Amino acid sequence: MVAEKLLQKEQPNSTAPLVNVENLSVEFRSKTGNVQAVDGVNFSIHQSETLAILGESGSGKSTVALALMGLLPKPNGHVNRGAIYFQGRNLVDLEESERRKMRGEKMSMVFQDPLSALNPVYTVGFQIGEVLRVHRRMSRSKIKKAVVELMEQVKIPDAKSRIKDYPHQFSGGMQQRVIIAMALALQPKVLIADEPTTALDVTVQAQIMQLLKELQRTEKMGLVLISHDLGVVANHADRVAVMYAGHLVETGKVEEVFRNPAHPYTVGLMESLPTLNKNTSRLVPIKGSPPNLLTPPKGCPFHPRCPIAKDICRQELPELTEVASGRESACHFYKEVLQHG
Ligand code: ATP
Ligand code: SF4
Ligand code: MG
Repeated sequence: MVAEKLLQKEQPNSTAPLVNVENLSVEFRSKTGNVQAVDGVNFSIHQSETLAILGESGSGKSTVALALMGLLPKPNGHVNRGAIYFQGRNLVDLEESERRKMRGEKMSMVFQDPLSALNPVYTVGFQIGEVLRVHRRMSRSKIKKAVVELMEQVKIPDAKSRIKDYPHQFSGGMQQRVIIAMALALQPKVLIADEPTTALDVTVQAQIMQLLKELQRTEKMGLVLISHDLGVVANHADRVAVMYAGHLVETGKVEEVFRNPAHPYTVGLMESLPTLNKNTSRLVPIKGSPPNLLTPPKGCPFHPRCPIAKDICRQELPELTEVASGRESACHFYKEVLQHG
């Protein structure tokens, strides 16, 4: 993979990636037709780095995450092309029993709708301990000690007494900390956080992001941060992968992509963000809406909304191509975009 080689060149001391996603494609089958929700996606995740996956609603971010975790809804969702290598092993080929063993141990996920991940009838301590009971076969007293330590790690005050509380006795931010503790229980090497702060108010959002970043530093985890919030991505990610209609359209270091995007869709996203768009007094939303994936447009999926689309765009799908050191774009006219923004 081009991006991979470039990244290794830039960081001679960096270790091999933990995860390599190659040509990942996910299809959902339904009565109304088949949807290619993710189409030929490539990226890698390294130890201690934060990769943000950015894109509008329906672009395929959560589907990528569920494919990484082996949790695509069955029977209608499946990986129909490509591979997901975790430390060299292709997860797509693994039996479900092996996959289950890896979940939580190697890769863990904080889900997009986290509050539904907590069961109202069990104490938070029981729920954090559950994963240890299943995977570690520890004694009751050891589990209790580990649960208190996990609650302290995610900075839940007074952990020893709160272990017996039920989810409804916790605020939204504290519930999210419980969910993060559950995801961290088995010390995963990669943590996927799917919109981890969307349901929370702004102050709590900042605290949760700070916590995730601190945990990432101490545990040296690779963090996949899924978001449609450019501010969160700008503040917390090292690299960004921009998705549109199931395709990866741009990748690169966050500061470079945000400063000088190489794809018209990313340009559109930047123009819709007030803090990055200081020269204009109002937001400029991207005109139109993403395509219906049941009937995707021919050629570049962004062409119906692209202000610089030309004939070739309506005919040929642009491949994700190296456009500068450590940067890729899937646009026939990336040079013009890089020059003129
Ligand atoms: P959001 O920002 O709203 O969370 P997303 O980028 O996470 O969006 P996905 O949830 O990955 O988007 O959905 C990608 C596409 O796959 C959408 O077109 C969606 O309708 C479709 N899709 C997702 N789950 C299913 C499913 N279980 N069955 C059929 N189609 C699905
Ligand atoms: Fe726009 Fe064409 Fe580039 Fe697609 S390939 S983003 S339609 S210029
Ligand atoms: Mg989603």
